[in-house]
Amino acid sequence: MMKSDIKLINSEGKRLDGRSPEDLRKIKIEAGVLHRADGSCYLEWGGNKVLVAVYGPREAVPRHCQNPLRAIVQARYNMAAFSVEDRKRPGPDRRSVEISKVISEALERVILTEQFPRATVDVNIEVLDAEAGTRCAGLTAAGVALVDAGIPMRDIPVACAAGKINGQVVLDLGNEEDNLGEADLPVAISPRTGEVLLLQMDGHLTFDEFNKAFDLAVKGCHIVSDLQKKAIMHKYQSVVAAEVQE
Ligand code: ADP
Repeated sequence: MMKSDIKLINSEGKRLDGRSPEDLRKIKIEAGVLHRADGSCYLEWGGNKVLVAVYGPREAVPRHCQNPLRAIVQARYNMAAFSVEDRKRPGPDRRSVEISKVISEALERVILTEQFPRATVDVNIEVLDAEAGTRCAGLTAAGVALVDAGIPMRDIPVACAAGKINGQVVLDLGNEEDNLGEADLPVAISPRTGEVLLLQMDGHLTFDEFNKAFDLAVKGCHIVSDLQKKAIMHKYQSVVAAEVQE
């Protein structure tokens, strides 16, 4: 059987997990969950579970990696050995090096790096459970953790993917959809300006499908962006309330 013959969307337009084409999976975001990190975030997105710890800005070492004009941003994406069905060999691989690079470059676009010459901002992204879309989940959690760390930014970066299954463009692919579908298009933006921070494509889309998928992913980004802000407000509102009581 061809991959494209597998039914991922039924005659009523419902996907395997009951979602409509434009529905996101369930998302839960919690800011400030780790005490030793400067900033942190725990995020669940469908079956994905991601923990992000941010450190810095602090002096970059070794010194030869410092930039005298601005801070460097070092995101490190890591999948736990137990995060996938078959145990994943621990340590970096080609895929995690690629994801770390594209996320670092995306975050560099929004962090006010020019304020911190010779410094580094370290963003540790730990994937505890993986079920497709982990780079979007990781980048979205990193945005919240950076705010929690008080790192000055132009905007809170956010990511969401769209894709194509059984010839139809849909939002936020699940695991089977990612494995058996025709295309996946992760997008990260600065929601205030619409600037694209990350854009990757796995699979094939026509020009029209690409435009449709891109617009849908951006729409998803704005929904997730609201959840990020709510998570941040939730943490800091309770701090304000505690101060008022004292
Ligand atoms: P993303 O997680 O950003 O969608 P990919 O498209 O590369 O990135 O991966 C899709 C999914 O494939 C992951 O979310 C994960 O569930 C699964 N996966 C990735 N790497 C492995 C691996 N080494 N072993 C098993 N499953 C993996």
